[in-house]
Amino acid sequence: MVKHDALALVLFGPLLALAFGGCAREPETPAIRNVVLISIDTLRRDHVGLYGYEKAVSPAIDALGRRGTWFDQAICQAPWTTPSTASFLTSLYPSMMRLGDFGAPGRIAESVTTLAELLRARSFRTCAVTCGGCVAGDLGFAQGFEEYVDEPVDMAVTVARSIAWLEKLAPDEAFFLFMHTYDVHNYAPSEPYRARWVAPYQGALPAGGELAPLLQSFDKKEEIARLNAEDWRHVVERYDAALNEVDDRLAAFLRRLEERGLLDQTLIVLLSDHGEEFGEHGSSGHGFTMYEENLRVPLIFAHPSLPRDRRVDSQVRLLDVAPTIADLLGCAAPAEWQGQSLAPFMQGQPADLVAFVENSHMAKKALRTPERKLIVSMAKPFRELFDLRQDRTETRNLIWDESVPERAGMRDLLARWVERNAAEERFVPQGGTELSEETRREMEALGYVGGSGDKFGADTEYWLMLLRTDQGRELDASLGEGGGR
Ligand SMILES: [Zn+2]
Repeated sequence: MVKHDALALVLFGPLLALAFGGCAREPETPAIRNVVLISIDTLRRDHVGLYGYEKAVSPAIDALGRRGTWFDQAICQAPWTTPSTASFLTSLYPSMMRLGDFGAPGRIAESVTTLAELLRARSFRTCAVTCGGCVAGDLGFAQGFEEYVDEPVDMAVTVARSIAWLEKLAPDEAFFLFMHTYDVHNYAPSEPYRARWVAPYQGALPAGGELAPLLQSFDKKEEIARLNAEDWRHVVERYDAALNEVDDRLAAFLRRLEERGLLDQTLIVLLSDHGEEFGEHGSSGHGFTMYEENLRVPLIFAHPSLPRDRRVDSQVRLLDVAPTIADLLGCAAPAEWQGQSLAPFMQGQPADLVAFVENSHMAKKALRTPERKLIVSMAKPFRELFDLRQDRTETRNLIWDESVPERAGMRDLLARWVERNAAEERFVPQGGTELSEETRREMEALGYVGGSGDKFGADTEYWLMLLRTDQGRELDASLGEGGGR
């Protein structure tokens, strides 16, 4: 069992001395004892007030960020739920675990050390309250959790179940709680939120129920292409209403933590596994493309011992979440974890971490730096390179522009990374990875069907061809301007 108080003194003692000038009479900053990790599935960074959204739909998230440190350029490792969530709970890239497409996602192998396993081995009580489907326990997500709830319920139930679990714990037991909700993903806010945020609408979209099965389906591209400005406004209003409802539930959860005296001793980490598209590049939902609306996500760490109201501009990855939590608790991270602790970034380290992103569902890979993004794909456009500073909407494909000096280096770096992960066998699941009927039904209800994506090892040669040769250059070049559309 880790002695958290002693560790926190080692970790934060020097900071306390700095903050209070060594004055022993100042109130002591509480140590991090527990961790709550909250994933608001499908939450776009740019719809959160903390990140500049103009509508006040996320006051609790905004206040949480101002209590702590938030990252402005946090990049997910996959644009859909199973591989992205697996990546931030294991600090491994999805291809290391051979996590695949919607219809055949694979599962997290026993050989992987999850964050929950790390903390459980240090006597933390562990519980996950998720909404199942893409994060069902039988996909390997239950590893390390004493209790793993995976039922399609709304955030109000998730909060109630989480509180009920916390109330069962003895006062001296440290805990790790993972909470996950699809409420934003589903666009189905309850009536008070709908009345507040959704204007009267007479368009073609179904007025009630969930929008995800339509927006999340690649088979309905023609229907998506027909959506007009009023339809998209309606989509966004329902999304925002659902976010506002989740935000209220989050506020209630944090109040309960405070009432129980747990808030100041608990590190709250809030993130989203990926974003969502509102037609910016001609598609909807998520899991299909690698543009910023999908890859750039909110990431907040809140605790009194962390810098307060600090925005970190450096590029970081969700892959770094588990190592950061381990570091803040004083636990050594497993050697195989591919991320690194963000604690130095919170204290002002001026560095950026290169982010690789994988979409095995549509067979795409990306390499992102704060300045550039390289995307390679098994479908047109096969190769794209964007200047993220000059071209924020990612519409001018620079892949054959000889004036961009980083082109060759980025292609080579991505190629070397593909080769390295393809050669790694330690985290490949043994035995069958068939979905249970229940998980398949839940995933289909969320809109996750089909797929013919990356077959991993078999496709390595293809990725290397795209990255190391100019074969097919004329085809790419003919796509030219607007290659991302
Ligand atoms: Zn998701």
